[in-house]
Amino acid sequence: MPTAIERRARLLGPHMTTFYREPVHVERGEGVWLWDTDGRKYLDCYNNVPHVGHCHPRVVEAICRQAGMLNTHTRYVHDMILDYGEALVSKFDHSLSSLLMVCSGSEANDVALRMAQAMTGKTGIIGTDNTYHGNTTAVSQLNASKVPIGGYQPHVRKVSAPDNLMPVGGTRAGQAEAFAKGVEQAVTELEESGHGVSALIICPYFANEGFPTLERGFMDRAIDAVRKAGGLIIADEVQPGFGRIGSHWWGHEKLGCTPDIVTLGKPMANGHPVAAVVTRHEILTTFQEAFKYFNTFGGNPVSAAAAHAVLNVIEDEKLVENARDVGAYAVGLLSDLAARHDVIADVRGSGLFFGAELWRDGKPATELCAAMVDEMRDRGVLLHSVGRFSQTLKVRPPCVFNRDNADQLVQVMDDALGAVK
Ligand code: PMP
Repeated sequence: MPTAIERRARLLGPHMTTFYREPVHVERGEGVWLWDTDGRKYLDCYNNVPHVGHCHPRVVEAICRQAGMLNTHTRYVHDMILDYGEALVSKFDHSLSSLLMVCSGSEANDVALRMAQAMTGKTGIIGTDNTYHGNTTAVSQLNASKVPIGGYQPHVRKVSAPDNLMPVGGTRAGQAEAFAKGVEQAVTELEESGHGVSALIICPYFANEGFPTLERGFMDRAIDAVRKAGGLIIADEVQPGFGRIGSHWWGHEKLGCTPDIVTLGKPMANGHPVAAVVTRHEILTTFQEAFKYFNTFGGNPVSAAAAHAVLNVIEDEKLVENARDVGAYAVGLLSDLAARHDVIADVRGSGLFFGAELWRDGKPATELCAAMVDEMRDRGVLLHSVGRFSQTLKVRPPCVFNRDNADQLVQVMDDALGAVK
């Protein structure tokens, strides 16, 4: 009898990745907990998709009710997308009042890039050099992990992503200016090459880059340079959005800027495949005039019902406040831990998106970090790593994570740090 791992490799391909040296064969979830097929319980400190907790009964009920009534596409008029969409855009700066619903973060970013091209008539895109924005052909041009066939295209420019311990320009104090200079240089190059600037696309929390600590206004000079060249600002809120960072609903609010286009995904419907692009009415209109866009599944009544239930649960259960409180508490515990473990070189984060960066012998401790991820898994706590050298333990749990869960996480981390060498 082949194992599930063998069946996966045969059916889904040998490079279909799994987390952990010994992958977790999951069966059931509830809140912050996951159970494997042997009935073992794990504290889930990593899954941001089940934003309001695994299998939240209100989301499950909303999906079942709407699936039992009707599901179809947006060529028919239906209230569900309107009720949800109006509730969602009310969470944004009033200029960002229009919405296009899709099914994945990749699609949302693909649409956002096309919106910027339609608005500007230009093709140049600026992104950061250690990120991931999705898997379509256009968006893959921005990804750091694999060079596209034929190489990166000349309309795409990468600027150095900010970092706490290896800051752009060499110092934390000078990082915003050095980052902006990188963007200014990319703007000049794109103008000289004739592509022009259509957009700067960033995750405002730099989630895939290691979530550096950035001061409000960090992006201002870079944004000025892009806007002066006629380009748009796209904020990829797929990871920081929906209140996870505790201080604000959106990462761009924490940075103190208003983008032209915001893309949303992962946490939006607690696991149901829902994503969206939120933008100004004129941008959506120009996009629709330039491209005849239709998305069969985007915004269907079941997806909209699931997403609306998530929005309501965030409000009713005060999950933004919870993220703020529990995140600050956990970062405090991690800072105490850092005082006892030399390998913890930095503790940072905002709300329920935080972690600890590991260095040893003056270098990012990539192998130690990987060993920690596996050791924690073996001890029943699921997290993962991020950073240019995968040297940072990344914690990003469902937003119902509480102080007891934080105590357990940090206690197990303490034990695991003592166990791995
Ligand atoms: N943007 C960011 C910042 C992401 O982290 C991801 C997924 N990891 C995506 C976009 C792509 O989203 P999806 O997998 O839903 O296409």
